[in-house]
Amino acid sequence: MPIATVNPATGETLRTFEALGPDEIEQRLAHAATAFAQHRTVPFGHRAELMNRAAKLLDDDQQDIARTMTIEMGKPIAAARAEAAKCAKAMRWYAARAEELLADEHPASADVSDSGAAQVTVRYRPLGVVLAVMPWNFPLWQVVRFAAPALMAGNVGLLKHASNVPQTALYLEDLFSRAGFPRGCFQTLLVGSGAVEGILRDPRVAAATLTGSEPAGRSVASIAGDEVKKTVLELGGSDPYVVMPSADIERAARTAVTARVQNNGQSCIAAKRFIVHEDVYDDFCRHFIAGMSELTVGDPLEESTDVGPLASEQGRADLEQLVEDALARGATAQCGGGRPKDRPRGWYYEPTVLTGVTPEMRIHREEAFGPVATVYRVSGIDEAVEVANDTPFGLSSNAWTRDDSEVQRFARDLEAGGVFFNGMTASHPALPFGGVERSGYGRELSGHGIREFCNITTLWHGAEPKGG
Ligand code: NAP
Repeated sequence: MPIATVNPATGETLRTFEALGPDEIEQRLAHAATAFAQHRTVPFGHRAELMNRAAKLLDDDQQDIARTMTIEMGKPIAAARAEAAKCAKAMRWYAARAEELLADEHPASADVSDSGAAQVTVRYRPLGVVLAVMPWNFPLWQVVRFAAPALMAGNVGLLKHASNVPQTALYLEDLFSRAGFPRGCFQTLLVGSGAVEGILRDPRVAAATLTGSEPAGRSVASIAGDEVKKTVLELGGSDPYVVMPSADIERAARTAVTARVQNNGQSCIAAKRFIVHEDVYDDFCRHFIAGMSELTVGDPLEESTDVGPLASEQGRADLEQLVEDALARGATAQCGGGRPKDRPRGWYYEPTVLTGVTPEMRIHREEAFGPVATVYRVSGIDEAVEVANDTPFGLSSNAWTRDDSEVQRFARDLEAGGVFFNGMTASHPALPFGGVERSGYGRELSGHGIREFCNITTLWHGAEPKGG
């Protein structure tokens, strides 16, 4: 894949970039190792100063970087600004809390005295150089939610960003550098995915985090496994959105539209499968289909646009094939189902609602990465849970109900890294984020995220022998 900015709204190649050669990669690895040796000793207070400065600079740059993101991957401009603001918030959140989240722990002496210890301390020390392989769909946020905790913990970062967002990738390096982080603390490597193996095997790299597709995750995890290096994987999702009769159906349907089409439908935590109790199915569908049909599809730089183009021509072709497969096997498109007629250029796709989906259709088990929803009719909570869990993924899930026993049942049985009740899944600095099964492992954000790339070190002090 060439490293280039190609505007998805027009298909026009705006800028291309040379990939780094072996010497340049070597130089950056050396800078990273040197930077870690120093950064790991920097007190939290100083790291926080630098991180807060990065947040301030990002706020100042918001308009420009939002435009860059929109031009590189097509997200509506208002959402791009919101993404930049959210990144600044996460930076401040970790700047304010990292020290507390990584504070020494002291197990009660009664618990450890029979180990012969007078005192035990558990200390969170940074692991080292962390390689971050990141996707284009939230080109700032995916990186910042790794970088803010990693840098605050004393690690240093090497970013291999998706090849279609090189300007956003370079912006991030520049941002951390302007904020005052010393050379080598955060570097962008403009390289293709073929270079990842060599970098990951380098002894100076301690760990890796990857957000992206399952094949990419499998590759990085197996190389890291071979090298015995820690990984966190945030992979795909096909989140269920269950609606039960006691829910506020109109609000559930309105939220469902946003949950499905946020980021032009290209979000790992977008609700993708809508599982609706038969008693409220017709009502929900009426509101949901109307909401999906009324969306404004158009130029993502226009403030009034709800849904812009897909990020790549290949991404649209993949989505088209999923929908065509479903339609050929008997599904019905209640709205959409193709390219908008008034958008001959760019990689647009209509917001689409499919009903009559059956398990033999590819879309039943594969992730639809675009504005395409499937709606299932179920007869009760048992079937709802069964359909919700009938997926290889387990990222998040959504359940709409006001019945407490149903809440308890979903909390116990939905197989995912999150269950969001009467709302839609969203990431937030304070909430652990990540999945199970084919959605990956490990957690980002919150205290759990910052500890992923730490060496949890036991400091054991022996007791002096009694009487002597
Ligand atoms: P992708 O092809 O896996 O790309 C993601 C990153 O991995 C890019 O930097 C890509 O580089 C790199 N990559 C691809 N193949 C690789 C390999 N074999 N070895 C090493 N690196 C490799 O993913 P995508 O299709 O662009 O992104 C969409 C996927 O990401 C969806 O499945 C989505 O659900 C998932 N996602 C998950 C989360 C989450 O938090 N769970 C968040 C966002 C997206 P190149 O660009 O150079 O190929």
